This record gives sequence, C-alpha cells and structure tokens, in this order.
Amino acid sequence: MKLIRFGAQGKEKPGVQLENGKKLDVSGYGQDYNEDFFGGDGLQQLKKWLEKHGDACPMVADSVRLGAPLCRPSKLICIGLNYAKHAQESGMEIPKEPVLFFKATSAIVGPNDDLIIPKGSQKTDWEVELAVVIGKKASYVTKEDAMDHIAGYILHNDYSERAYQLERSGQWVKGKSCDTFAPLGPFLATRDEIKDPHNLNLWLKVNGEMLQNSNTSDFVFDIPTSISYISEFMTLLPGDVISTGTPFGVGLGFNPPRYLKPGDVVELGIDGLGSSRQVARAFG
Ligand code: ZN
Repeated sequence: MKLIRFGAQGKEKPGVQLENGKKLDVSGYGQDYNEDFFGGDGLQQLKKWLEKHGDACPMVADSVRLGAPLCRPSKLICIGLNYAKHAQESGMEIPKEPVLFFKATSAIVGPNDDLIIPKGSQKTDWEVELAVVIGKKASYVTKEDAMDHIAGYILHNDYSERAYQLERSGQWVKGKSCDTFAPLGPFLATRDEIKDPHNLNLWLKVNGEMLQNSNTSDFVFDIPTSISYISEFMTLLPGDVISTGTPFGVGLGFNPPRYLKPGDVVELGIDGLGSSRQVARAFG
C-alpha cells in the first residue's frame, strides 16, 4: 500500500495511491497516519476497510497539494556519514558506530513544497535519503528482530545549512532543522512494497544536472543494524522516522562547494518511492 496525505498545509487528510497512480481520499476511515495508527495495526485495518469501501472513496485530483505522508512524528532521527564515499567528500572518517543526530520535526513539509533558504544562509545544501518509518515500538531490539519494527519507507531530502551545521559549534541539529528542511514523500510505501531496501538506486538533480546517483547497497550500517543501535539509546515509537544518510554528491563535496540559491530546482527520487521536487526560495 502507498499512503499519501493531501490538502492545504496543516489541514492534510489521509489518502492512498493506487497501483495505477490514482489517488483516493480515505478520510472516511476515520484515522490519520499518526502514532496510534501505526502502533495499532492501522495498516491492516485500513487495507480491510479499503476492500469494502474503496470503490466509494472520492478521488484526489493530481493538482491537489501533497503533504508529508504521515503526521508529525515524535522523532526524526538521522544517521550521518552512512555512505563511505560521502564520508570521504565531507573530509570525515568512516564512523565506527552510527553517527546520530536529530532534525526538528517542525522542518517536515510536503514533497513538492518550496525550500525556504533560511535568513542569511549562504550554504544551504541537499541530501537525498531513504527514510524508514517505525511501525512497532522498539526498545533494545536485536538486529534479527529489527525489520519487524518497520511500517514502511519514504523519500526524504535532508536539507542542511553547512555553516550552521559545521561552523557554528555544537551539534549538527542547528544546520538540519530550519523550516522546510525535511520534505517527505510523495508517499509512504509499506514494507511489503520494497523487496530489498539495501539495493535501491537513489538520485538527486539540481537544475536538471545529476549530482547524486548511488545505491543503498553502499550503506556503512544497514537498516537492521541502525534500528537496533538507535533502540539502545531511546525508544522508537510508531510513526518515528529514521533517515539513513546520504550518498556522495552533496554541494559541500564540490571544489569549490556549490550551494542553493533562490530559483534553483531540486529533484530527487528512489526506486519504488517516487520522486519529489522543490524550488528554492529566499526567506521572507
Ligand atoms: Zn543526512
């Protein structure tokens, strides 16, 4: 199943995208895609409900805005330097343990919403990433059990302000959390839709030029290792999002570095998870 949310910002309703690309309004089911939904067998219940009521669901026009395909989660956790070549271009060593950082959940927006370059920012950068959505509470889970805690997968652009992240001291969170820095979607693909999350091509273009083009087979730490590791330090709740890191080809890695300016168009995608597009706009 592919979950979407649609409508005006802050007023999104739940929907599903069918195999033929058509989108259905499933707000009649009566629950949005939140912690209770993922933690309470919502995916199975919605599937059953659709078999009965799917034909009567209103269609969603292609012109309608898409929001992030899940409600604001309790946590948006990112793994840093999780592709060996990207660690190199950032001038950092391949980590011995997963590097973790948070991104404010207020940064989450729809997949095709504008990117707002923060006030005074000179170094706004892109990062195409595979994000994992937790479906079942996870605390001290083993690698062997970790995949059972996944609800599905989403395309994510982990926008980053490199000066805030690396030059302003302290944690990376400052460069990761600005409004619009976490476009999610177009849809959440349930776990059964992605046969092998460790062999997905992912790419990103700026103004039509391919700058990131890699495969999740290059992960330093695979998904079960990452989930198990994170769950040693905090409890993962249903609906939480883990972004698994970005491959080679971010703006920081070019010589000289390349950063986004108003009017730039960023497009990205992952096998089986669709594509998204953001236009960069100045703050204000
Ligand atoms: Zn990232």
